[in-house]
Amino acid sequence: MSTTLFDLSGRTALVTGSSRGLGQAIARGLADAGASLVVNGTDAARVGAAAKALRESGHVVHEATFDVTDEAAVLRAFERLDAAGVEIDILVNNAGIQLRKPLVDVSADDWNKVINTNLTSAFLVGREAARRMIARQRGGKIINIGSVTSELARATVAPYTTAKGGIKMLTRAMAAEWAEHDIQVNAIGPGYMLTEMNRALLDNPSFDAWVKGRTPARRWGRPDELIGTAVYLASAASGYVNGQMIYVDGGMLSVL
Ligand code: NDP
Repeated sequence: MSTTLFDLSGRTALVTGSSRGLGQAIARGLADAGASLVVNGTDAARVGAAAKALRESGHVVHEATFDVTDEAAVLRAFERLDAAGVEIDILVNNAGIQLRKPLVDVSADDWNKVINTNLTSAFLVGREAARRMIARQRGGKIINIGSVTSELARATVAPYTTAKGGIKMLTRAMAAEWAEHDIQVNAIGPGYMLTEMNRALLDNPSFDAWVKGRTPARRWGRPDELIGTAVYLASAASGYVNGQMIYVDGGMLSVL
């Protein structure tokens, strides 16, 4: 089979939260498919280390350290990219945080932080990327990272679940407005994956057993298992796919 449909040569991808975890794996996958990368996070040292590792594999990498929840910082970051001649063809809205607390103990600040980081960020960064894609008139790709909690609630993660449910509808809302500009907006919903975000859960034998029992694949997902779906949604292969959410969850959402 020809892989031309999945070739990302000549494209530039911004992956938010790509200094580690799932974002880092997705960034590497897009780079291996031919894309130049813009690596992001809030910690400049971590961003620098992730960028260095990609460069050592021969990839072209820019660094953009900014907080995706800070509108002024997002605008400044895009202005710096504009000034450097870096045009984003592919945006992956991946940055996110978790907070585990009973809902009755969640403060308004807790709530706002989780919603801002997991949902409002995708609007802020997506808007800046789309403004430029529309003006350039050569289309683009936006991939929002949801979760199985885009569909399922779970005790102690209410703000996160609310944000990830919002990601599903934001993906459709973006597609509704931007598909006519040849911008395909879709989402990926990972199941339980092996990353730092889940360190406490992984180290908890009863939670680990619950994940393995609840997931038909009987194991946690590996970050690199998101790459195929990300490359597909970032490439010409998904040219008429709009507003969809693809779950990469070992079958979790298919069973009770
Ligand atoms: P990690 O905690 O491992 O990594 C989070 C990344 O986001 C880091 O690069 C971090 O960089 C960055 N980040 C966090 N806050 C901000 C911010 N305000 N501005 C810019 N960057 C930020 O998380 P995961 O890799 O596990 O998760 C990535 C995404 O996947 C999230 O959206 C998460 O909800 C989602 N997801 C994860 C699942 C899992 O099982 N791990 C399952 C389903 C969805 P820095 O430290 O420099 O700020």
